[in-house]
Amino acid sequence: MERVLCLLYHRVNPEPDPVYHLTVTPQNFEEQMGYLKDHYPILRFEEDWTKPGEDGVAITFDDGYADNYKYALPILEKYRVPATIFVSTGYVGGGQEYWWDEIARVLTREMAYPDRFELKDSLYQYTWKTQSPEERREVIRSLHWLLKMDADVERANLWLEQLRTWAGLGREGREENLPMDLEQLRGLSRSEYITIGAHTVNHRSLGAQGRQGQEYEIGASVRFLEKRLERKIETFSYPFGSAVHFDQNTLEICAGNGIVKAATTVKGLWRKDTEPYQVPRVEAQDKGGKEFERFIEECWRLV
Ligand SMILES: [Zn+2]
Repeated sequence: MERVLCLLYHRVNPEPDPVYHLTVTPQNFEEQMGYLKDHYPILRFEEDWTKPGEDGVAITFDDGYADNYKYALPILEKYRVPATIFVSTGYVGGGQEYWWDEIARVLTREMAYPDRFELKDSLYQYTWKTQSPEERREVIRSLHWLLKMDADVERANLWLEQLRTWAGLGREGREENLPMDLEQLRGLSRSEYITIGAHTVNHRSLGAQGRQGQEYEIGASVRFLEKRLERKIETFSYPFGSAVHFDQNTLEICAGNGIVKAATTVKGLWRKDTEPYQVPRVEAQDKGGKEFERFIEECWRLV
């Protein structure tokens, strides 16, 4: 291949995601797969892209939402399109939403909120106003940044507990937002069109962590999947994935754990000289028909 356009999806779901915009509707996804299958060779993420051939497209999903199983898998199988799904293993089958969705679940409800939210522990103390939707959006943004950059999972879980208690909510996640359970993960892995890759345990920035933390996040997620799926895991994607969210340690630790190719969220096309541990991707868009065709044409103009 001369160039590969590697698309990054998160969710295929009829329910919109007004906070993070991570969903593509099943109808648009079906149109997208039909179009891509008709116009390009669809490559598996893990295969050798350096062999001669025309430009190709690869399909990837990050995180491991249950909707990948429910809505994306039947469409991928119908159009015979292979895809790689990178799973954050700490959430498999837990019945709780990913931490970013949990923050949004608590702060975007139709209910009367207290005047302010105070986050307090031995290290931090923050206070936010929480009366208007705009103020609560600001809390979502702040908490998202704090949890992304702070790898102390125990502390973060206490923060989330404080937030739930403050809003009077339990732990149970919204059905449509749940991560996949073990049966769904196994079902995906059994499909001849699906490859499972790893995406850390807790979905924090790897670049914000030292070597030891990264060793755990990468190694434990790979081992979890290899044990449950009884197959070798050779692909990985870095949470958040832009250049600040991984470093030289990350690439070395991935190589040491048997990973042969890894995906970033750096926007661009794969070319022959692309480093295999830094495959650029382009975030998919919730578009159908001609709009999607124009989007793909624009992607090929990227450097
Ligand atoms: Zn992710």
